[in-house]
Amino acid sequence: MTDSAGVPIHDLETLVVGDLVLEIAPPSNRKTIEIIVERDASLVLKAPRASTIERAEKFVIAKRPWVYRKLAAKDALTGPPIVKQFVEGEGFAYLGRSYRLTLTPSEEPTGVRLERGRFRVNASDVADGAELMRGWYTEVGSQWLRRRLRPWARRLGEPEVTVEVRDLGYRWGSARPSDGSQYINVHWATLQLPPSLIDYILVHELAHLREANHTPEFWSIVARLMPSYQAHKTTLATTGKSIWLGSVV
Ligand SMILES: [Zn+2]
Repeated sequence: MTDSAGVPIHDLETLVVGDLVLEIAPPSNRKTIEIIVERDASLVLKAPRASTIERAEKFVIAKRPWVYRKLAAKDALTGPPIVKQFVEGEGFAYLGRSYRLTLTPSEEPTGVRLERGRFRVNASDVADGAELMRGWYTEVGSQWLRRRLRPWARRLGEPEVTVEVRDLGYRWGSARPSDGSQYINVHWATLQLPPSLIDYILVHELAHLREANHTPEFWSIVARLMPSYQAHKTTLATTGKSIWLGSVV
């Protein structure tokens, strides 16, 4: 944290503290730091103009129990965390199917591969296993999501939407409409879900390009794109709790 000493918090767009990802609100003349837990479980940090990253981090760490309570009340992705071990036979999901982990001998290639029905990680890489898996989901998932998004985006009348895969804390996705290119973000952990649920997340975020809040207008856009959305929404609320967010033993 020493390298962030003295750096203004408003130099950042988002602040990541452990597993919490906070969007930094534009500077205002407020005197105190505040965390807002939005209705969709996104987190916003409001801070005085002069706040530093260091001070904001300390504030978030102190407020963490309160944030978790708020998130739990919103039925966000906050069941007991799913913890994985990088040992032979551990299961990792991709697109709704579970694949066992095989540790490969050190002379074989490094990195993560999904081959012949198994995730393969080099035995010499297990210490970095979680990071490598996250990287794999992000890279392979980005390509898959790009293709998957296209028909939905076309249906919305926005053929040029870009999807970016990243760690979004306790949110499945996010979207920020703009006058220029349209972007939506999707959590890497989403790639563990079955495609039908990923479709719902894509549709949900696409609808946010038209309507930022969960208004009746928002849900009518979702329903127009995906008439069966309600069932997916319900399934996601329960399935979501079994998704691995990167915790390891
Ligand atoms: Zn939403």
